[in-house]
Amino acid sequence: MDTHAPCVALIGLDDSRHLVVIACNDRFFELLGETAVDTQIFPIRFDALVADSTQRELREKLLACFSAGSPARPEHTHDVRNGGSWWRLSLKPIKRQNGDACADEVLVTGFDMVAQSQPAQAPEADASRYRALVDLAYDAIVTMDEQHNITLFNRAAENLFGYSSAEILGQPIVTLLPERFRAGHPHKVKQFADAYQPTLRQATPPRMDETNSVYGQHRDGSIVPVEIAVSKISFNGGVEFMAVVRDITDRARLMELLKKQAVTDALTGLPNRRAFLEFVQKLFGTTDLFSVFILDIDFFKKINDQYGHDVGDEVLRALAKIGESITTRPCLFARWGGEEFVAALPGADVGLAQSIANTLRQRIERRDFEHVWRVKPVAFTVSIGVVTREADEIDVDTLMRRADQALYRAKKSGRNRVETG
Ligand code: GH3
Ligand code: MG
Ligand code: MG
Repeated sequence: MDTHAPCVALIGLDDSRHLVVIACNDRFFELLGETAVDTQIFPIRFDALVADSTQRELREKLLACFSAGSPARPEHTHDVRNGGSWWRLSLKPIKRQNGDACADEVLVTGFDMVAQSQPAQAPEADASRYRALVDLAYDAIVTMDEQHNITLFNRAAENLFGYSSAEILGQPIVTLLPERFRAGHPHKVKQFADAYQPTLRQATPPRMDETNSVYGQHRDGSIVPVEIAVSKISFNGGVEFMAVVRDITDRARLMELLKKQAVTDALTGLPNRRAFLEFVQKLFGTTDLFSVFILDIDFFKKINDQYGHDVGDEVLRALAKIGESITTRPCLFARWGGEEFVAALPGADVGLAQSIANTLRQRIERRDFEHVWRVKPVAFTVSIGVVTREADEIDVDTLMRRADQALYRAKKSGRNRVETG
């Protein structure tokens, strides 16, 4: 008997809605603990085959397949475990005609999971297949023995770390790590080995470091961000650790880029609203005294209407450049959105913040800044609302609302002004 062969059965319902086996192979009888009888004639009552209550769950799942609406869930799985045997069944409802939503039959297929996990090939065939696989892998594969010396180093590992297999075999594994991680590595391996449970076959391989910030070191000294999955294996009577190491340089770069984009305004290159809000929210936790202001370009719509949107954009870029240089003190100048900009000034009381804002306003009014205008210089002015954090204020929304009110007053009272609130 081929232990890798699946069991197959077609299950239906008789007139009194009892489960019947319409057809099946011998492996299905085996699964139910029955020996196949040549003379058995289908259909056979399911309950006649399975008299005991051990398969109650399977019976219920089969019946559920026939209930209305079940084809919406196209396939169920069910594990049958009995002593040392373990079958994994898939139950697939089959509909023959259109009409109601009920399945007409259920196709059951199952595999002997114990047999599946046994190698079907001779050991030599397995060994050469294993060697080929290890060298074909895109990921670096490195194994080490209990003394933490390297015992296997595939081609991808040679590429990733820059050592040939011949020269690195027998060397300590820490050769492949940046200096700063070497001392702590044996402890990490021990922690991993103690926690490792080979019987738990997890959905994702066990990672030696969950933080996603693991690094390898190339022979030339360069540091390579990597992702590592590790397993502990019994080998030749001893223990080995196998690591699958993936170079994630590209991914790490992309992540950095995305992280930066998420907090940067594309037009001006300034920090965006999100970056500003995060910065100010942090200030609430760390700094008692700080001020913010919100700046809005006066009659910006007119600039757009008169010179075109591109020139409007250029005004925004010019303003971004001036804003970045308003003070040598710690400061975050950001684009709030549209033609509105904001600044956070840690340590600045309202007087200082007002004076910084006013200097900025005057420099813009007097065109006291460097900018190479692509078409022609554009005159513009700004209005600014300044506020200082109040003692009982704990969130950025109320603070910005107050700044907005001060800005509104600046607009109301003639523009090209700074108001405090
Ligand atoms: P006020 O003095 O009251 O602030 O008048 P305003 O014209 O500046 O104000 P309003 O809010 O009416 O107009 C803002 C304009 O800014 C409208 C919108 O088309 C323009 N705008 C928003 N974002 C951008 C941008 O990224 N580029 C350009 N060129 N224009 C923008
Ligand atoms: Mg506006
Ligand atoms: Mg405006």
